[in-house]
Amino acid sequence: MSDRPDLAPYRVRHNLKFRMLQVLRVQTLTPHLIRVTFTGDDLDDFESASFDDHIKVFFPAPGTDQLSLPTMGPDGLIFPGGERPVMRDFTPRRFDRAAREFDIEFAVHEAGPAASWALQARPGQTLGIGGPRGSLVIPAGFDWHLLIGDETALPAIARRLEELPAAARVIAIIEVADPSARMAFVTNTELHAVWCYRSESGARGAAMLEAIRETDLPQGEGYVWAAGESASMRAVRQHLVAERGIDKKRIRAAAYWRQGDAGVHENLDD
Ligand SMILES: Cc1cc2nc3c(=O)[nH]c(=O)nc-3n(C[C@H](O)[C@H](O)[C@H](O)COP(=O)(O)OP(=O)(O)OC[C@H]3O[C@@H](n4cnc5c(N)ncnc54)[C@H](O)[C@@H]3O)c2cc1C
Repeated sequence: MSDRPDLAPYRVRHNLKFRMLQVLRVQTLTPHLIRVTFTGDDLDDFESASFDDHIKVFFPAPGTDQLSLPTMGPDGLIFPGGERPVMRDFTPRRFDRAAREFDIEFAVHEAGPAASWALQARPGQTLGIGGPRGSLVIPAGFDWHLLIGDETALPAIARRLEELPAAARVIAIIEVADPSARMAFVTNTELHAVWCYRSESGARGAAMLEAIRETDLPQGEGYVWAAGESASMRAVRQHLVAERGIDKKRIRAAAYWRQGDAGVHENLDD
């Protein structure tokens, strides 16, 4: 691994701001992914510098459209009336300042207030967001990029593929429930996409790990980005570091959720 300064990821800080958004459109992209497009005056100064930025999404209580946004106090968030709404992390999938449109893509799963909200989302409804507070910008100039993830990482992977330049060499390894979750990417990159299915492999993460094992990585300076379920991501990172000899500094792996727990986010670094 070289120390080329142009390949060093860097952080960008943003002022923390809370925004109230209105649903403009709802699209079912696949049976497993719902895109909700929002609008609102609060979007005027929205910034998102990296494909893996995250925002906190605040959901109204089920059956209501009532939501109060928090403010930032000296000891953390202060909620009006002391009541904390349900909050979950999501990826700013697309922001179009001119059109004042902002997309979040929600993975559909069996239980959880965020997934339930997405399934009932209708134009005119309200949602709150906070952030992003900061971005980690991973340079585009690597010789190769390996993107790994499950349904919750698809929005970030799709955004990265849209944003990387035409010459970029990308391998994407994506594990989803079954072939109905597969989607087309809009990209100019030289993309080799490997889709693998839990319907064929059984255990979560097994197909992904197998696909990674079978992937020959190109020569040169590369960067690995991975996000998905916690145990799967730990196994992926362990494999990449211990068996493939990839420097930890060239891997950004995150747990976007954890089986059996609500609202989990962990960056996997040691
Ligand atoms: C930085 C970051 C960015 C993220 N971006 C996105 C995004 O753009 N789109 C997206 O869909 N998700 C994204 N996630 C993941 C999302 O925050 C979690 O999946 C969240 O738990 C969903 O909330 P919920 O209310 O639906 O379920 P929760 O109430 O949090 O969980 C309820 C139960 O469902 C399980 N569960 C949670 N998510 C899933 C899942 N996807 N599949 C199966 N079971 C699940 C939990 O383990 C728990 O047992 C992101 C997470 C992080 C940390």
